Amino acid sequence: MSMIKTPEQIALMRDAGRVVATTLAAVRAAAGVGVTLRELDTLAAETIATAGATPAFLNYHPRWASVPFPGVICTSVNDAVVHGIPDGYTLQDGDLLSVDCGAFLQGWCGDAAISFIVGTPDPVDQALIDATDAALARGIEAARIGNKMGDLAYAIGGAARRAGYGMLADHGGHGIGRTMHAEPPVPNDGRPGRGIKLTEGLVIAIEPMLILGRKDDYYHDDDEWTLRSANGRRAAHSEHTVAITADGPVILTLP
Ligand code: MG
Ligand code: MG
Repeated sequence: MSMIKTPEQIALMRDAGRVVATTLAAVRAAAGVGVTLRELDTLAAETIATAGATPAFLNYHPRWASVPFPGVICTSVNDAVVHGIPDGYTLQDGDLLSVDCGAFLQGWCGDAAISFIVGTPDPVDQALIDATDAALARGIEAARIGNKMGDLAYAIGGAARRAGYGMLADHGGHGIGRTMHAEPPVPNDGRPGRGIKLTEGLVIAIEPMLILGRKDDYYHDDDEWTLRSANGRRAAHSEHTVAITADGPVILTLP
């Protein structure tokens, strides 16, 4: 299937993206001390269903996973970078929670993630989140006709490295449309001037994943899904689905 979407298709993806943004906002508002990840997952399921959409992650089963993903959202706490399973864990004061959400509406997918502190923030954790959001913003800013994918990847990775953080450099974003994960890959680090040309109608998910400290190492949890930082330090993840248009980058996953 073509990677290029028409303006009409992008408008439909905007509707899907709005559902994702609304769900993330609801989860964030509910994510207080004493709330379990499973309760947040139930809230996400209800929010997506109320919008007439279907969750993209539930029972998602890529070839590399031995078991399908059991949740509606990914909830990654503290040293969990991405793909955390929403289980019975009860949120504690100061936890760093990353929430990733995908949903289909009318056959089109939206995908976005946010990171935030539950309760009282540690300034070090908040700075990590701010740097992750900033790296995402740099990537979005580079999602322009005439740039190459390497320019976008370098914008993300350069921002993260200069700020002094490690990152999951071998994980990144992706094309998105009628499937959640499509061509092309959107790396979180790269070299300017390399890779495919960014063209009008390309829709991509951009998603930096930053780790405290300068190390990139991570490992798979026993649950087969959660990726955790090898140094045990905290990590953050931010993501938007973005359309490359003649008017510049358009974020599709806003409320
Ligand atoms: Mg995502
Ligand atoms: Mg994604």
